[in-house]
Amino acid sequence: MTNNPVQFPNWNDLAGRTLAGEILTRDQARAVLNAPDELLLEQLAAAYRVRRHFWGSRVRLHFLLNAQSGLCAEDCNYCSQSKISDAEIEKYPLMAREKILDAAARATSLKAGTFCMVISGRAPGERVFNKVLDAVREVKARHDLKICACLGLLTEEQTRRLAEAGVDRVNHNLNTSEGHTPNIVTTHTYEDRVRTVENVKAAGITTCSGGIIGMGEEDDDVIDLALALREMGVTSVPINFLIPIPGTRFAEHNQLNPRRCLRVLCLYRFLLPSQEIRIAGGREVHLRSLQPLGLYAANSLFIGDYLTTAGQEARKDLEMIRDAGFVLEAPDGSPIEGDPLEGVPEHFPMGPLPVLTQA
Ligand code: SF4
Repeated sequence: MTNNPVQFPNWNDLAGRTLAGEILTRDQARAVLNAPDELLLEQLAAAYRVRRHFWGSRVRLHFLLNAQSGLCAEDCNYCSQSKISDAEIEKYPLMAREKILDAAARATSLKAGTFCMVISGRAPGERVFNKVLDAVREVKARHDLKICACLGLLTEEQTRRLAEAGVDRVNHNLNTSEGHTPNIVTTHTYEDRVRTVENVKAAGITTCSGGIIGMGEEDDDVIDLALALREMGVTSVPINFLIPIPGTRFAEHNQLNPRRCLRVLCLYRFLLPSQEIRIAGGREVHLRSLQPLGLYAANSLFIGDYLTTAGQEARKDLEMIRDAGFVLEAPDGSPIEGDPLEGVPEHFPMGPLPVLTQA
């Protein structure tokens, strides 16, 4: 009896087909996720061919501000801000405008192109919403930053008002596949999330929507999510790798390793070739020493901290980008020539931003 070795696609051929506008078959997509470790560099080289075609060597930086933390009545199992979480996090209502402006100044000094204002909760009430609009106008007046707002479920009327205030982009993650969503949250549906993304599109705002990998999903859920985002024409796709925060329902989840994370990034680059793919939360925890390799598939990172967990020291991120030969991208999409670290302060004084809890 002969032992037929499993045949994997020629990754370079897949890259060529992707650049020609073809879409991977489901079997090819599964193969990307299941290839052996010894093929990983070939996969990354193919993904990089696609990434380079659309994004050159540019890396887009986003700075995240958790402008309102905790106190959320939804039951997302992964989230430290949910009512069902016992995680020790700072909880606070919407920050004062001056603190938001301080954070925007910090984003600028770290050369971020986009300032992401996030608030916890299912959906914003009118009072908070108006304060967010006010902060958006002020940040836009003072800084050359794109603004991304992540405010929970939004109506079409709210997305129109965000557009009028100058919001460039709204983030609302689908998080996982439609089939896996009931295992993640019960207080809202996949359809609720899709509707918000559609409302964002209707207002003419750029869409940002991605997922969290490592929440007990199957390979087909990872593929389904990418196909759904492709179908919806989402512009920017953050890929989070679950940080199993103690005190959350998913504290014991542990299905990731750095190579798996890189294969997921390759898959998303193939299925969403021209989209902005961002390595989001969990980068430091799960990619660890292989973080630079992620940039050969993805073209964007968060710099600074995440919502309730600390990120890698910002200068280390900039060093990583420089050392790998990538360049930063300005808010208008042009490359910023020169050393990414030039002019970046050595240390930030303990400022008015909350000290976040390390997962
Ligand atoms: S992800 Fe958002 S909606 Fe879900 S529990 Fe956390 S803050 Fe609430």
